[in-house]
Amino acid sequence: TQYVYRFGGGVSDGGKGNKNLLGGKGANLDGMASIGLPVPPGFTITTEMCTRYYEDGQVFPESLKTEVAGGIAHIEKVTGKQFGVAADPLLVSVRSGARISMPGMMDTVLNLGLNDETVVGLAAISGDERFAWDSYRRFIQMYSDVVLELDHGAFEEALEIAKEDKGFTLDTELSAADWQALVKKYKAIVQEQWGKPFPQDVHDQLWGAVGAVFGSWQSERAKVYRRLNDIPGGWGTAVNVQAMVFGNMGDTSATGVAFTRDPSKGDRAYYGEFLINAQGEDVVAGIRTPQYLTKAAREAAGAKPLSMEEAMPEVYGELARVFDLLETHYRDMQDIEFTVERGHLWMLQTRSGKRTAKAALKIAVDMANEGLITQQEAVARVDPAALDQLLHPTLDPAAPRDVIAKGLPASPGAASGVAVFDSDTAEHRAGLGDSVILVRVETSPEDIHGMHAAKGILTARGGMTSHAAVVARGMGRPCVSGVGSLAIDAKAKLFRVAGREVKEGDIITIDGSTGEVMVGKVATVEPELAGDFGVLMEWADKVRRLKVRANAETPLDCKVARSFGAEGVGLCRTEHMFFDAARITAVRQMILAEDEKGRRVALDKLLPEQRGDFVQIFEIMAGLPVTIRLLDPPLHEFLPHAEEEFAEVAEAAGVGIEALKRRAAELHEFNPMLGHRGCRLGVTYPEIYEMQARAIFEAAVEVAEKSGAAPIPEVMVPLVATRRELELMKDVIDNAAKAVFAEKGRTIDYLVGTMIELPRAALKAGEIAEVGEFFSFGTNDLTQTTLGVSRDDAGRFLTTYVDKGIYARDPFVSLDVDGVGELIELAAERGRKTRPNIKLGICGEHGGDPASIAFCEATGLDYVSASPYRVPIARLAAAQAAL
Ligand code: PEP
Ligand code: MG
Repeated sequence: TQYVYRFGGGVSDGGKGNKNLLGGKGANLDGMASIGLPVPPGFTITTEMCTRYYEDGQVFPESLKTEVAGGIAHIEKVTGKQFGVAADPLLVSVRSGARISMPGMMDTVLNLGLNDETVVGLAAISGDERFAWDSYRRFIQMYSDVVLELDHGAFEEALEIAKEDKGFTLDTELSAADWQALVKKYKAIVQEQWGKPFPQDVHDQLWGAVGAVFGSWQSERAKVYRRLNDIPGGWGTAVNVQAMVFGNMGDTSATGVAFTRDPSKGDRAYYGEFLINAQGEDVVAGIRTPQYLTKAAREAAGAKPLSMEEAMPEVYGELARVFDLLETHYRDMQDIEFTVERGHLWMLQTRSGKRTAKAALKIAVDMANEGLITQQEAVARVDPAALDQLLHPTLDPAAPRDVIAKGLPASPGAASGVAVFDSDTAEHRAGLGDSVILVRVETSPEDIHGMHAAKGILTARGGMTSHAAVVARGMGRPCVSGVGSLAIDAKAKLFRVAGREVKEGDIITIDGSTGEVMVGKVATVEPELAGDFGVLMEWADKVRRLKVRANAETPLDCKVARSFGAEGVGLCRTEHMFFDAARITAVRQMILAEDEKGRRVALDKLLPEQRGDFVQIFEIMAGLPVTIRLLDPPLHEFLPHAEEEFAEVAEAAGVGIEALKRRAAELHEFNPMLGHRGCRLGVTYPEIYEMQARAIFEAAVEVAEKSGAAPIPEVMVPLVATRRELELMKDVIDNAAKAVFAEKGRTIDYLVGTMIELPRAALKAGEIAEVGEFFSFGTNDLTQTTLGVSRDDAGRFLTTYVDKGIYARDPFVSLDVDGVGELIELAAERGRKTRPNIKLGICGEHGGDPASIAFCEATGLDYVSASPYRVPIARLAAAQAAL
């Protein structure tokens, strides 16, 4: 097996585009080299090597040594420099590169190849002693942190002390001699902490770095990132070794990051930031505030430092030419890193740029309109999950607001919540149900969990491409970054700005689209769903086969669902109407009644209420199917707890409190999820389902008479395990229909069907389909009962299961296609055999999950049903599944 692939200097071993083998970065470097872009030469060690490295117990095969030596020889040949030779030393970078970019998650080592001798050579060749010693001390610091895993605090402290001794505040004030002295101190720190001198053999340095990059694939933060982003641990990372080029060789050198289009709004304009006389990390780390790329962007921001277009017009022209080449070649918006070394442009990397949902939409639609991609490709380009960002509220322009600061609009959307100053607290308070805004000076990969828990992120430092900005956009969290006026005291848990003080727990609002920071909560408005969103949805609907319905029971949910394009209600959970505060007493009276007569008294009170609910739903869903599920939850859940609740029920029912309490004790269950629930309620107390069926048909007749358009009710029986259960319940429903139609002198078409949410029902689907006219897979319960994992308690241990690879993803979020999926396939097949035109759908949470939707498409279901806000996601995912 070949593990090393070279690129640059007219060579591209990889044949462009093999991301799985070369990783995203390696594949792109190779791709850029193959179209003749100026890429510093280098080589990639494949992801297969990473996998083998772990399989072999973290050792490298002998053959790799030879291949790497060949790679180094290639770089030496192209650059004319030599690795470890002082006369003209070759320095390399060693970087990770997984198939999918994991920003800031994995390790990088720069300036590798420097030692006590080559540093002198570098100083001579560059004519810049200060730069050479600065590079060497950066290298020692990075290598010690990443490869030797020493405490980096000691290095930072030594640097602070060196500056203090001289009375300096900026690193740039230190001279060559100062850096040289610091190198000595750094080497002493290494000797002290590591017990050995800093490695002087450049080949030892290289192998140490390669091992560290492979090692970083299994770091805790990389694991967390993979879990949050559904990246399998088995993919591994590649390692890219590449000649260093320097952006810090004076005022004709620079380094920058750029996007070929605006990654925030999607506009067709070059977009980026650069720093003169700096190394790449300086831009991303957000330590110096970068300058704009274009004159237009600089002027729009009212910034003074010259843009690249103005300061380096020739190199900028070359960069613009490269941008256009890249877009035509990759047919997507690119995110690039570049360095200018003494006026010469070098491309360090390119990849499809991360973008906000808004930009993703606009870019996909624009590129299709520009003819760069097809409409179907545009549909395939937009991540359905990312649409979530667009479907969320923005600040009401008319709402009063108390703006206390302004920063960069780093990730769109608005959020209000309590200010917290560290990620652990953010996670803790979010766990208690608080909306949280995470406030940090800047964020680092250690903050991922806090950012994930937060509704929004606010930072004092960093640009549009800082860690906070990139990660927040990826997660769909609103983010305001670089609010320089914010004086954050994380220890005291407060910040001060403009003479105001905000403490932990105070409510603030951020607007990631304008960069504004406000005190207090600000009213929001619903998103606008026309424009690019509407266009893309239209294109998606053209290719989609699966219908998309909504899980909805309130008029508001139904309206939202329709506005998002739902083609009916797939699950109306009637118990949500039972929990209504105004009705709960009658519900409790019904449950606690000693006999049928007592139950009927209470049910008579509930009938008009239920009918009223259904009238509203049928009106909103005019002409569309509405699946109404009869009462499902365990009686246990409705039991009164507090003394006054018992008193209310006693009064309504005209019985004594003590008798009620006795009855409640009788109804208490140890395992309610497997207890007296679902159709078991209808089997034991048919009058409950009779009342509900009556309410449905009375409402349907009423709406048909009023509007002329008859609703299409689909009456659904939950938790069926046997054919006989469904048969009994269907009789109750049909009898109620007959009675209502006779009374009203009008009939309505309707269906009676069942949920499939027990393994037995899936197995016996052939028999059940003799009675049921449709199946709706209740994959929440079906997952719970198939896996034998309680859906209410699973959170405590399922993350461990995902970490250990037992399940690829949380099976309550994304369908366990192998296990639960097999039951669904089997039930669909057996059901269709009995009743060829049986209607099949899914209404568990999985109905809004793109991966599960792909499974539903493959299984040939008729529709998926998702919560209203996920309806557009489901429409797009269904289209992608059909492509
Ligand atoms: C299900 O079990 O998948 C379902 C949709 O019903 P519920 O979540 O109400 O139990
Ligand atoms: Mg269920």
